[in-house]
Amino acid sequence: MKVIDAIKESDKTLFSFEILPPLKGKGIDTLYAGIDPLMEFKPRFINVTYHREEFIYKKREKGYLEKVSIRKRPGTVGICAAIMNRYDIEAVPHLICGGFSREETENALIDLNFLGIDNVLALRGDARKAETNFVPDDSGHTYASELVEQIIHMNQGQFLEQEMKDATPTNFCVGVAGYPEKHFEAMNLKSDLKNLKRKIDLGAEYIVTQMFFDNNKFFEFVDRCRDMGIEAPIIPGLKPITTLKHIDFLPKTFHINLPEDLSDALEKCKSNEDVLQVGVEWGIQQTKELIAKGAPSVHFYTMGKSNAVKQIASAVF
Ligand code: FAD
Repeated sequence: MKVIDAIKESDKTLFSFEILPPLKGKGIDTLYAGIDPLMEFKPRFINVTYHREEFIYKKREKGYLEKVSIRKRPGTVGICAAIMNRYDIEAVPHLICGGFSREETENALIDLNFLGIDNVLALRGDARKAETNFVPDDSGHTYASELVEQIIHMNQGQFLEQEMKDATPTNFCVGVAGYPEKHFEAMNLKSDLKNLKRKIDLGAEYIVTQMFFDNNKFFEFVDRCRDMGIEAPIIPGLKPITTLKHIDFLPKTFHINLPEDLSDALEKCKSNEDVLQVGVEWGIQQTKELIAKGAPSVHFYTMGKSNAVKQIASAVF
């Protein structure tokens, strides 16, 4: 089932979450161990992130450094198929522009289509760690909107080979990312929202937001989207803070702010256990309010750990 249909047919807020493929070398059981405890809350869909290759430098003989490309978390497509097979629920693969030519994108979408996967979250992806700006593949997409366009073309039976006749159209429901606190590269929120609107106008059907800790930021974002004519459902993304390390890591990495009430409470924490308690309590309050205000789904970023999400879901769903 398409995410958009699951949203439309439900009269209450759905529960959904995102997982990361395990690090290369780890078995899929580590992944199931994170998903199993959340199944009792009947997630309607599970997103699986996509991780671009990174360049690392390996020392070779005589001090030479060899640039090697490695993908630390491969397996997004296989994991989606495995989830649908094991749990009989929708898996939403993330597809990124970075590292993909247009043809590789087309081939990846053909694989997904053959596997019966109807949903895709279309993203640009971040710059590689060693690069300051996002660099697309030579014949790849620069912005997520171009990826959305390619997927919608395939839904209309238009593949890259113009001469191809009678191509069977794909049938993907496309979601895209939105940023209540603005994407860090955008000049301002207004220009970011114009770019978001472009993705929707090209055919994306719903938006999943970056994590945020202040619900007012989300509600203001939704209002601004509606004022700009973006009517698509907007799914809030939540990440429970669970460790002392998160207090620095999350704002730096995801370009988001922690509200003062939350940072005051976190400053008093002496251990990860203290942080987990504060993070879960905060997540419960956020989720309750989002549900009360009619969010289509509350989407949790598990980052490979389901404990805190389970505690929040137990209190709310
Ligand atoms: P875009 O929509 O292309 O926007 C990127 C920037 O370019 C924005 O500042 C935008 O305002 C600007 N822009 C857009 N179009 C134009 C234009 N035509 N002209 C000028 N400027 C423009 N990353 C991964 O690598 N793998 C994942 O699995 C992944 N999952 C994610 C899931 C969610 C829900 C979210 C919110 C993010 C995820 N990311 C993931 C991170 C994402 O790839 C980065 O935030 C990336 O920097 C931007 O991606 P985007 O799709 O929002 O890009």
